[in-house]
Amino acid sequence: MRAEVQQVADGTYLVHGSNTNWVILTDGDAVTLVDTGYPGDRELLLDSLTQVAGSPEAVTAVLITHAHNDHLGSAEHLRTAYGTPVLLHEAEVPHARREFLHQVTVGDVLKNGWRPGVVPWALHAIRSGGTTHVPVTAPEAFPKPGPLDLPGRPVPVHTPGHTDGHVAFHLPEAGVLISGDALVSGHATSRIEGPQLLPDMFHRERARAVASLDVLAELDGELMLPGHGPAHRGPVREAALLAKERAL
Ligand SMILES: [Zn+2]
Ligand SMILES: [Zn+2]
Repeated sequence: MRAEVQQVADGTYLVHGSNTNWVILTDGDAVTLVDTGYPGDRELLLDSLTQVAGSPEAVTAVLITHAHNDHLGSAEHLRTAYGTPVLLHEAEVPHARREFLHQVTVGDVLKNGWRPGVVPWALHAIRSGGTTHVPVTAPEAFPKPGPLDLPGRPVPVHTPGHTDGHVAFHLPEAGVLISGDALVSGHATSRIEGPQLLPDMFHRERARAVASLDVLAELDGELMLPGHGPAHRGPVREAALLAKERAL
């Protein structure tokens, strides 16, 4: 299976898995991976890393925006196969260990089954490992506030609401925002195209997710790489404010 790897900026690659995205940041031969797709996306993930970096072993660290199965799917695999550290916000570390699971439930999905796109999305999610148990046994919290000493020098930005410890990653010099599920540009269960919040059933606390859009609106950048939907070009600030307007 060959991954479609899209170079979107210098040393910045966006990969569309099945219904979910990940980002590869390079600095010479070294690589940072942001998110890992569904468990069922593993072959695509490994192929994308081989295309960009020669081998999955080149990954210095795996950063996770939040511990939902469609982002965490292969984190433990990379950790155990290559010894790659897996880093998250400290509030998301117990979530990655699966001490609890704050993820849309089958019951929530059934209640929303009448909405366009929900049933096909749910069937795909289940086939891709959306409900399998994929804990990371030894996740690590970011060592300190500010830019991480990793390829791309990403800066974690706490944007709670979708989950408690959700972060976006800001690349201030490149003007890029990796927004995860705090701000997306499309989803199989949404009829809207462009910057938006995910549908309500996906958020742990929707009001906090709306408030986190104000945090993103403070960031400089001209390119947004979301967890779902295509890359979005244009001021990050405007994208965040448009999503907020649509959410209110
Ligand atoms: Zn999510
Ligand atoms: Zn997601």
